[in-house]
Amino acid sequence: MTDLNHENESSRITAADALRRLIEGNRRYVAGQSTTADLSTSRRSNLRSNGQHPFAVVLTCSDSRVPPEHIFNQGLGDLFVIRVAGNVIDDLSMGSIEYGVEHLGSPLLLVLGHDYCGAVKASVDGGEAPGKIGAIVERIQPSVEAVVQSGASGDDLYRKVEDQNILAVIKEIQSSPIVKHLIEHGHLTLVGGKYHLDSGEVTFIEV
Ligand SMILES: [Zn+2]
Repeated sequence: MTDLNHENESSRITAADALRRLIEGNRRYVAGQSTTADLSTSRRSNLRSNGQHPFAVVLTCSDSRVPPEHIFNQGLGDLFVIRVAGNVIDDLSMGSIEYGVEHLGSPLLLVLGHDYCGAVKASVDGGEAPGKIGAIVERIQPSVEAVVQSGASGDDLYRKVEDQNILAVIKEIQSSPIVKHLIEHGHLTLVGGKYHLDSGEVTFIEV
């Protein structure tokens, strides 16, 4: 496969174009028409020589059913991905995000949650969280409390906590001076998204 999709990479693509690439890639994936992502030896060698210029930074869950490169049908060097159960923020995930948007200059930052999230379920259900699993549950807990207060229950409760957690994480990211500065100067667009396990579709939330 040639580098056709990447030939203008050195001139930054806009956030709108980056989002379009994600949407179009996800459409192909949903339709079962994913193209062969660029995993070629020429692409690998080109990235090694010229460095990486990923067009989007994606913070998402570690869930094996939500691999960003597949669900957006992208190849090597396209996405700068941070994965942690529950797509939660801590200093390490925030530092990785800041590196992606500031140092690598990605114009788009996506916080991608998903339905049937195990980390969210564990946070809603409560009970013992051994080892360091509690650290993840703890971060989702404020979203659980906010949604419980709204009176949601059953499956609806899980889905709403997943949504609330995406919004809470976005809010935390917005508190980063680096992210804030880039957004204010028009160099970065922050969007939320939710991946649906059944359809394979990602729905986007503009923030
Ligand atoms: Zn998850």
